[in-house]
Amino acid sequence: MIRQYELIDKVLSYNPKANVALLNKAYVYSMKAHGNQKRASGEPYLTHPLAVADILADLKLDDASIAVGLLHDTLEDTLSTFEEIEELFGRDVAELTDGVTKLSMIKFDSKKQEQAENFRKLLMAMSKDIRVLLIKLGDRLHNIRTLHHVPKVEKRVAKAQETMDIFVPLADRIGLYTVKTELEDSCFKVINPTAYEKLEEKMNTMREEMGTVEKMTKIIQEDLNKAGLNVQVVGREKTIFSIHRKMQRKHLKFEQLTDIIAYRVITNNKQKCYEVLGHLHDKYKAIPGRFKDYISSPKPNGYQSLHTSVIGPTGDRVEIQIRTQEMHDIAENGVAAHWLYKMQSNPEEAEKQLGENIQYKWLKRLIDSLQDTKDPEEFLENAKLDLFSENTFVFTPKGDLVSLKKGATPLDFAYSIHSEIGNQCQTAKVNGRVVPLRTQLQNGDQVSIVTNKAQHPSPAWRNFVVTGRAKSAINRYLHLQQLDEQIRLGKEILEKIILKDDYPTVTEKDLTKVLKEVGAKEVQDVYLALAQGRLFPRQVLDLLFPHKKKERAEQSKQEKEEAAAKKVNSKSSAVAIDGLTDGISIHIAKCCSPLPGEEIVGIVNTGRGVTIHAKNCDTLEKYMDEPERWLNVSWSGEQPVNQAFEVRFRITIQHQPGALSALTTCVFNQGGNITDLQMEQRGLDSNVMLCAIEVKDVSHFKRLSTALGQTEAIVGFERLKG
Ligand code: MN
Repeated sequence: MIRQYELIDKVLSYNPKANVALLNKAYVYSMKAHGNQKRASGEPYLTHPLAVADILADLKLDDASIAVGLLHDTLEDTLSTFEEIEELFGRDVAELTDGVTKLSMIKFDSKKQEQAENFRKLLMAMSKDIRVLLIKLGDRLHNIRTLHHVPKVEKRVAKAQETMDIFVPLADRIGLYTVKTELEDSCFKVINPTAYEKLEEKMNTMREEMGTVEKMTKIIQEDLNKAGLNVQVVGREKTIFSIHRKMQRKHLKFEQLTDIIAYRVITNNKQKCYEVLGHLHDKYKAIPGRFKDYISSPKPNGYQSLHTSVIGPTGDRVEIQIRTQEMHDIAENGVAAHWLYKMQSNPEEAEKQLGENIQYKWLKRLIDSLQDTKDPEEFLENAKLDLFSENTFVFTPKGDLVSLKKGATPLDFAYSIHSEIGNQCQTAKVNGRVVPLRTQLQNGDQVSIVTNKAQHPSPAWRNFVVTGRAKSAINRYLHLQQLDEQIRLGKEILEKIILKDDYPTVTEKDLTKVLKEVGAKEVQDVYLALAQGRLFPRQVLDLLFPHKKKERAEQSKQEKEEAAAKKVNSKSSAVAIDGLTDGISIHIAKCCSPLPGEEIVGIVNTGRGVTIHAKNCDTLEKYMDEPERWLNVSWSGEQPVNQAFEVRFRITIQHQPGALSALTTCVFNQGGNITDLQMEQRGLDSNVMLCAIEVKDVSHFKRLSTALGQTEAIVGFERLKG
């Protein structure tokens, strides 16, 4: 166990200006507070906070963090109070200590709830000050190192599992790889001892065959020294857990792994890294395709190193990483090292960054996204999911780091910033270039979004966003939007008929009277049903104005009689076509929907009458070999008065308020009847609608087409066939 003065010396070695008095005071206070409490090992309790402070000093943390390492269990396990610690050690230390302290005043319903609520508190505290997490990890690391003293196996496994679930991913997120690696390896040994022992055996055999890491390190070291390169060579073995994970993930056997041992060459400047590389490639055969220069293009988390693989002195494949001391520290200890180097070069900036936690916005966002989760178990599950899911790290134009699910697109990025930015996302630039919104982002991309108030989410967006946040925001918007549009359309449909057939004005209050009869709960539902064609305006109007219904029935009877009198051919059919036997049933082909006035042919279907196609319909090719089925037909000069033929259009309208209404108005003005209207595609400045319109005949269709062409809000349209 480290002694008090050794701890102080260690801190002074990297921070000569350390506040020794503060550290000594914290040591004495902690010793008195814990009194004769004991650890599971039987040792005095003080050994634990002292060991935690030692771990934090290894990470070269600041005075306050080391002091809190000593004090971290006083609030939780002794009679100390926040006020007392604040008075003795200042606000900073008191708040940090409180941040690492579990909730104690609340009664929990279950162990799970307690775990969740404590985790929530920890997240909050570390989002305010990332040092809370560093201290908590130091605490956890020592607890895992001494886990074998805990007598009950279930307790040991539970603790190890919790560490794997929560603290390992957190350590990984902040780049504290030394701590992460030790934690996961030790926990794996507790959770799955059989697998651990098997791999340990294999490792021992391998060491016997290949020679130990120490031996190899020496060879490479001497080699580089002889070349006049004054560098340090360190060998490292992959931990058992990371071997296990790699075998599982890549479905490899132990023997297939090539990177169990890696060597690191630590230099004192960047230039030397390349010199070392040159020498190694000179001396040993380099394996093609294995060289990577992360010095000139660092990984997004700041990692820098040269990577190469060579056939080493013993004829085995050897992985070598070459980096400066600073790169090495950052690679091993992430945030802690960043902070330390910053502190040396620019203390003011470092303090500021620490306060603002510039790099840890992901933490705030994690908390945001979990805020609404009321059920503690769900909270814990979601948090684990978020921590474990593989991520792509990208940057905002200001250089803030944003972590997104792998496969995320610029749209996911936009939604992660704010749902409004997502909804109004017009174009995206990645590394300065405009890219399609569906582009998959890569680690390190810098993403900027151009918004436009006139832009809205398109249904197609749902097909390529990957984050839950973007998906639910788009769905929410579309759902509301669709309802809105349909309600407006429903209103319009009803109003046109009222105007056309001279009904009195219908108020919403009037409509409430017929809700029950049309099977609606509220007036909005009536409009929706009208827009969706589940309800016809006549049905509503007949209910409201029964006397008009009678009038209309009489009128149409009269019309029918007049029509029948005029008609000579195919009386039984709703459509009048010359050249057919009386009584034969007629279908108008859906593929071409010919209109009266257009040239047509009939195709005889056995048992199903005659299908009428337009003469230029592509479907007719199918019947080329069956001339016996073709009938020469033509439209009769007179069609039933109320006969309507459906024509389907694809109409592109401007993306602006009133465009849809301009379309429907145009159709109504031309006496057409919209029977179906759907949004096919929503675009930047235009929307594509699929629209079915009933017309009387080809000249009616032509009139309507001319009118559509003259409507400003309509960008283009085509008649759909087939
Ligand atoms: Mn502790």
